[in-house]
Amino acid sequence: MSTDLSAYWMPFTDNRRFKAAPRMLVSAEGMYYRDASGRRVLDGAAGLWCVNAGHGRRRIAEAIAAQAARLDYAPSFQMGHPLAFALAARLSAVLPSGFEHVFFTNSGSEAVDTALKMALAFHAARGEPDRTRLVGRERGYHGVGFGGVSVGGIPANRRGFGPLLPGTLHLRHTHDPARAFTRGQPELGADAADDLERLVEEHGAETIAAVIVEPMAGSTGVLPPPRGYLERLRELTRRHGILLIFDEVITGFGRLGAMTASELFGVTPDLVVLAKGLTNGAVPMGAVAARRTVHAAIFGAAGDGIELFHGYTASGHPLAAAAALATLDIFAEEELCARAAAMAPHLEDALHSLRDAPNVIDVRNIGLVGAVELAARPDAPGARGSQALQSCFEEGLLVRVTGDTIAVSPPLIVDEAEVDQLAGALRRVLERLT
Ligand code: PLP
Repeated sequence: MSTDLSAYWMPFTDNRRFKAAPRMLVSAEGMYYRDASGRRVLDGAAGLWCVNAGHGRRRIAEAIAAQAARLDYAPSFQMGHPLAFALAARLSAVLPSGFEHVFFTNSGSEAVDTALKMALAFHAARGEPDRTRLVGRERGYHGVGFGGVSVGGIPANRRGFGPLLPGTLHLRHTHDPARAFTRGQPELGADAADDLERLVEEHGAETIAAVIVEPMAGSTGVLPPPRGYLERLRELTRRHGILLIFDEVITGFGRLGAMTASELFGVTPDLVVLAKGLTNGAVPMGAVAARRTVHAAIFGAAGDGIELFHGYTASGHPLAAAAALATLDIFAEEELCARAAAMAPHLEDALHSLRDAPNVIDVRNIGLVGAVELAARPDAPGARGSQALQSCFEEGLLVRVTGDTIAVSPPLIVDEAEVDQLAGALRRVLERLT
């Protein structure tokens, strides 16, 4: 079947180059994709950090099919359907205690914007409507809504889109190249959280609504938090009456070896943003889980009628809810978080064995995620990274590349032999990169 590729405007893609030499994935099973020529491609990226339970899960496919036949769609404004309620309760039960209320969206970006709005609504409800500033962090990625790019810390995603949200501020990022080749969390660097004091001093805590961070920055190259950093951020936000939002779109659903980074690090934010692994990538869905304090304040201040003027046509969509419930069943039955934690040391060793390969300037890892950072070509930053993506694909390996950093985050069902296969393919690619 030959298809004209021109009509599809692809997201975050060099469309012209892609269409000149398309990389098409046509089916998937377990740890592997198949490309258009029938070749197997090891999924070293869980699709796009989302297929954590592996591909082609029958249980999820059957749940979606059964739900489509029973109830294809139900409005979620002033109407309900049982699966959305069941899913909210199940999620609340697998999150750290206190996250008793869950709001559904269709993506991580929407969930981020929802969480930011909840933070503003929380302060307004408590009589502090001047707390409107939203604080993100350099090198943060929070999707592509206007809220998400405003608090996000990726200049290319902000440039050219106008003034964005007013009053956003950014903490400095936590990455220190002097700590290259650290295994797991860096020992030093927790003091980066003190940067919040600078913002408080400059703008006044009474103007700041929330701080949003990824517990581990994923999209800008896998940056594990320094030991004590998140704890310190929690302490400071609490002291200043500022809400803390964890964007767990990548770290949720077992990526770090626990259901959430919040659970792993023992740091409880006020709002948790989820997406991606929530449905194993099978149907788009995002969610925001709120601590009972946030929910109680907003509901307490609302008069009769709607408590939060916010929502999406497909919030809690029946097919997404069915997929998410089946995903949670798989997580429980196969103990995928524990499995990820058990496999993490092997991935760590495999990735760090690449440190002597040409152009490698850093290897980072935590849980079942890691990154190999390459020296940028002086004349062309990012060129070596995109060459690596193409070469990996030719080697039968899917990775995620940002700039000159290769990120790997295989499905949590990966075994030792597949980790070795992944590292072997990476080495061959690194040896021949120019
Ligand atoms: N937040 C984080 C941390 C992400 O990594 C992403 C996507 O990669 C998003 C938000 C946005 O999610 P989506 O692409 O589903 O809108």
